[in-house]
Amino acid sequence: MLNKKSVDDINVKGQKVLVRCDFNVPLKEGRITDENRLVAALPTIKKLIADGGKVILCSHLGKPKGEAKPELSLAPVAVRLSELLGQEVKFAADPEVVGPNAKAAVEEMKDGEVVLLENTRYRKEETKNGEEFSKDLASLADVFVNDAFGTAHRAHCSNVGVTQYVETSVVGYLMQKEIDFLGNAVNNPERPFVAILGGAKVADKLNVISNLLEKCDTLIIGGGMAYTFQKAKGLEVGTSLVDDTKIDYCREMMEKAEKLGKKLLLPVDTTIVKEFPTPIDAHIEVTSVDADAIPADMMGLDIGPKTAELYAEAVKTAKTVVWNGPMGVFENPILAKGTIAVAKALADTEATTIIGGGDSAAAVNQLGFGDKMSHISTGGGASLEFLEGKELPGVAAANDK
Ligand code: AMP
Repeated sequence: MLNKKSVDDINVKGQKVLVRCDFNVPLKEGRITDENRLVAALPTIKKLIADGGKVILCSHLGKPKGEAKPELSLAPVAVRLSELLGQEVKFAADPEVVGPNAKAAVEEMKDGEVVLLENTRYRKEETKNGEEFSKDLASLADVFVNDAFGTAHRAHCSNVGVTQYVETSVVGYLMQKEIDFLGNAVNNPERPFVAILGGAKVADKLNVISNLLEKCDTLIIGGGMAYTFQKAKGLEVGTSLVDDTKIDYCREMMEKAEKLGKKLLLPVDTTIVKEFPTPIDAHIEVTSVDADAIPADMMGLDIGPKTAELYAEAVKTAKTVVWNGPMGVFENPILAKGTIAVAKALADTEATTIIGGGDSAAAVNQLGFGDKMSHISTGGGASLEFLEGKELPGVAAANDK
């Protein structure tokens, strides 16, 4: 259990409460195309409204890199949040985030009202955890609540710096839920515990592989990562994505699995194509991964059907499953079969299923399996760092219980 003070441990009646949310939603021509992160933020916001707080929301959106880029304004979020909450969310449109509009809006607030500040990354100090912007944010608030799991692995002004200048800093319900689900899965799992890792590169997941091997019973590897493991086993991988600098590392991990008595599952067959990126009607073949089965001029871009079956069987035996990263180039429907098969296996099991954000979360939601999972993390990078066993600065900065 998370040993941090939460919104349940404070009384916010009449207080100005600055809430760091993760409103980093995808936008297309000013329209929000996926509002999961807004919906996920509602429980904390509603609780603070109900308790009579003056609720000042803030978040980053995209990467404006210290400039007030109008296409990355949080204005559309204020509109949609007003609808979702059933009450006005007043938008404070200041290019410097904490400017005359924000100050005046906060000054006028009555208990239970909500204001949204402009994109925190309009300020260049934000991502450097600079003092001035941290103080500006803190000057608006009596209490700070961090509910932005998606940025918890970063130390920025709006989630870490600000806590130095506000007496009370607590976590919100979303943050608590994320840490409870991921923490229980990793540190206190109901066994067998199966972890599934995919995605492009081994290098991005070195510490995750190593840490999860220690915690899980079975580690499944798919996606582009798998071919460096195959090469480490002495297999021919054609032109598949391989990181030659990580071959020794993969060998080490296979030895580690053996030493610890853990199962490490790798693909037994793969879907291969000639070129990348591949058009939707490209010619694909399925081959085993044995010896020289993958031709020298072809690359593996998805797990094959036998592998999908093998992985689904492993999921069936599990009581806890954590999944991060697609099994292939799932953006192309002809290379999405492996990812779909794994998503379906997770949807069909009674086990606790946790999706570690990012591409796997998008895949699960797109396939309509979202409500079949126990928990879909709102933070890809943050959940990966958590799975590495790292302490997240955004969580560490909150007051201990
Ligand atoms: P990541 O951000 O590391 O989780 O990687 C996700 C990306 O990995 C997706 O965009 C996939 O298209 C890509 N990917 C998955 N499998 C492969 C593969 N076999 N070869 C190249 N890229 C892959």
